[in-house]
Amino acid sequence: MRQVYLDYSATTPVKEEVMREMIPYFTQMYGNPSSLYTIGAASREAIDKARVQVAELINAQEKEIFFTSGGTEADNWAVLGIADSLKNKGNHIITTKIEHHAMLHSCEYLEKHGYEVTYLGVDSDGRVNPEDLKKAITDKTILISIMFVNNEIGTVQPIKELAAIAKEHGIIFHTDAVQAIGNVPIDVKELGIDLMSMSAHKIYGPKGIGALYIKKSVRLSNYMHGGAQESKKRAGTENLPGIVGFGKAAEFARVNLDEHIKKVSELRDYFINQVMEKIEHVTLNGSKEHRHPGNANLTFEYIEGEAMLLYLDMKGISVSTGSACSSASLVPSHVLSALGIPVEKIHGSLRFTIGEPTTKEDIDYVVENLVEVVNKLRSISSVSSVKGW
Ligand SMILES: *Cc1c(COP(=O)(O)O)cnc(C)c1O
Repeated sequence: MRQVYLDYSATTPVKEEVMREMIPYFTQMYGNPSSLYTIGAASREAIDKARVQVAELINAQEKEIFFTSGGTEADNWAVLGIADSLKNKGNHIITTKIEHHAMLHSCEYLEKHGYEVTYLGVDSDGRVNPEDLKKAITDKTILISIMFVNNEIGTVQPIKELAAIAKEHGIIFHTDAVQAIGNVPIDVKELGIDLMSMSAHKIYGPKGIGALYIKKSVRLSNYMHGGAQESKKRAGTENLPGIVGFGKAAEFARVNLDEHIKKVSELRDYFINQVMEKIEHVTLNGSKEHRHPGNANLTFEYIEGEAMLLYLDMKGISVSTGSACSSASLVPSHVLSALGIPVEKIHGSLRFTIGEPTTKEDIDYVVENLVEVVNKLRSISSVSSVKGW
């Protein structure tokens, strides 16, 4: 049976070339980068090289890249680190209702410890209104954290404009760019970003490795305490093969960016058009214009997304209902809720994310099976409104 993976926003396969680059660092060049002898130095050099590769992807300086265990740790570090380092200045943080749980749950933790958090709403496209941000700022605001690209609906935020507002008020601006790197052009200097979270496994690199970009002038308290690694900012023996893999994946992402965006967005648009043409009562969630190139989040009215997912899985097709984190629960997606989509429609929503290995044949196979499952489920649907047609 054909296997079609359309969940590249959940994770991606490691690129062959990336894995080949990593392998020697497991068995041959395994020296501890902190050791003073030669094989330790070789490890250190490999890390330095990867740091340059990651820095170049976002136009940062290599000294501004700090490796972490992934996007989750980078998000935690950014928000908890600023909350600590600026606690004498204020206790107010501004974020949005549509952040990843790594950010939302970190903010909820801070709320239990005396901080106040404003969760900005979004418009029906999933975009933050810069006027709402301006209104939310108080003299106690120490951090503004707004994700670059949403993981469920793929909406791209007006980051430059939002970061400029933060700067006008002398407030640190963080963005979770886990879904953005490798999918939209990013220049942290041009955009005015102070802190930015990244992860390797969403860009064809390994799991368990990511980074936080910390602009040179930003003072951020440590989150991991221990040894002197990462310029004494992030303790713990470095994930050497992971870092090497992240570096290589970042290099590929930078070199192939334009081609990747073109290829993936063309297939995505073909997919959306085919679905709209062949299936009735389907809507696209999120923004048409400001969108992750591979994301198609669709609502199929009068059906349960879970039922569709299981049927598609039987056909070898992997998709997601909302985000991977919430897909195990029946709580409606906080992102789709924030768009004002009614609960029954949220339950009929699926996220398809297209990636580099996806082909037109894959898309045709998925559309064919979608038509079949939608017809099947709608014909047995007990929802009364469906009976009329
Ligand atoms: C995947 C993801 C994360 C978490 O990154 P990990 O490396 O899996 O910890 C954070 N934010 C967003 C937007 C993501 O898509």
